[in-house]
Amino acid sequence: MRQVETLVIGAGITGLATAAALGPEADVVVLEADAEVGGYCKTVKKEGFVWDYSGHFFHFKNPDIEAWLKARMPGQDVRSVAKRSFISYAGRQIDFPFQKNIHQLPQAEFIECLYDLYFARTPGAEIPIQESNFKQMLYARFGRAIAEKFLIPYNEKLYATDLANLDKDAMGRFFPHADLTDIVRNMKQADNATYNATFTYPAGGAIEYVKAIQSAIRPDALRLSEPVMKIDPGARVAITSKGEYHYQRLVSSAPFPLLLRLCGVAYDPAVFTWNKVLVFNLGFDSKGPRDAHWIYYPSRSLPFYRVGFYDNIFDSERMSLYVELGFPSDATPDIEAERERVLAGLRSEQVLTSQTLVAEHSVLMNPAYVHITQASLATHSRLSGQLRDAGVISIGRYGGWTYCSIEDNILEARALVRSWTGKETLLG
Ligand SMILES: Cc1cc2nc3c(=O)[nH]c(=O)nc-3n(C[C@H](O)[C@H](O)[C@H](O)COP(=O)(O)OP(=O)(O)OC[C@H]3O[C@@H](n4cnc5c(N)ncnc54)[C@H](O)[C@@H]3O)c2cc1C
Repeated sequence: MRQVETLVIGAGITGLATAAALGPEADVVVLEADAEVGGYCKTVKKEGFVWDYSGHFFHFKNPDIEAWLKARMPGQDVRSVAKRSFISYAGRQIDFPFQKNIHQLPQAEFIECLYDLYFARTPGAEIPIQESNFKQMLYARFGRAIAEKFLIPYNEKLYATDLANLDKDAMGRFFPHADLTDIVRNMKQADNATYNATFTYPAGGAIEYVKAIQSAIRPDALRLSEPVMKIDPGARVAITSKGEYHYQRLVSSAPFPLLLRLCGVAYDPAVFTWNKVLVFNLGFDSKGPRDAHWIYYPSRSLPFYRVGFYDNIFDSERMSLYVELGFPSDATPDIEAERERVLAGLRSEQVLTSQTLVAEHSVLMNPAYVHITQASLATHSRLSGQLRDAGVISIGRYGGWTYCSIEDNILEARALVRSWTGKETLLG
């Protein structure tokens, strides 16, 4: 049996960042089930098109993290772009976020939205001001019209669940909140800044950030195609497809319900639900719309909730799309049928006109967006605390059963290592 101080499950951003933060001398092994590193930050290249698993654009709040990554990407063309995103609504393009741009709607709908927004916030409102779930929060803060024209249909297509199932803060800082003052002010002075007002993107795709982190890890610390099959937390032993490891601490970035099963911890599976996102990456022979980096589609008659345009980041002349569709976790989408619906939807939205499809790829991300509920928060907190006491630490987007960005993954890994070493490392 191999002895190791720190055993890491997963060579996605979180697992690699943990190993990198420990430094090149650390006694660490990273076990990855897949044959490649990257997790959900993998990049696919076909016929000159560069696609991520899904639209992955990067919004760094910490210049030190961004600089550390960039320094490990020599020669890489990393673009910094001011985002152009729209909502396709009733045949017109509305600036995102919808709730701050209701003045761009046809006049009757604008008045309806403004009226409902105003009275939603007034004592004696038609809809009681209570926010015990995500759906109620939307009604209570924005009124019926804004909620029902965009916020509910769009988010229900994405999360593939009734929004009443989600915690009111299910999207955390990723939800663009706005009050009546912000909304009215925006009618005259546009300020559509959201958490992702600008983004960076490497010409080689999201995998370039993964490679940058990987470059700080000893190659022999990484074991690909070696899934962890069972963990005995009491004995601090992990059994993989290839052997056994005795660890002092185990850091897992695997989805939390899977970790619980690996550790033999009993839990109620109904507590942890999520959506799947089916992504079609589509490359065409010629250009499409030039104005958008991505467009949101709330219409329930369209299969996709968002379409992104890689070609408008790099001003390239062939349309390169990612198209995202949300499904419940128990659905088995018929990929061929969905592909046809996507192409028909792109035509009806006039994204696709005379272009010819020349390359394509699809991937099902499962889980993609976890459903954050009161029960998931409480159960995760209790069971992850129990595991932590036994030396098993569950972190990352899926280990933490949360909604976060890759920068959050890096920050979390760095803080974890700092809590052990007491040292202020960047990543190693
Ligand atoms: C649709 C979508 C769009 C997104 N867009 C953005 C964006 O624009 N910007 C941004 O910053 N973030 C974005 N994200 C979030 C980003 O993808 C994640 O934060 C990040 O990739 C999570 O990394 P991770 O290492 O925590 O998890 P993962 O990438 O899931 O890595 C976990 C790894 O663990 C491995 N593993 C699982 N089980 C085992 C096992 N038993 N044994 C060994 N290995 C195992 C998996 O194979 C995987 O490689 C998006 C996410 C989604 C779903």
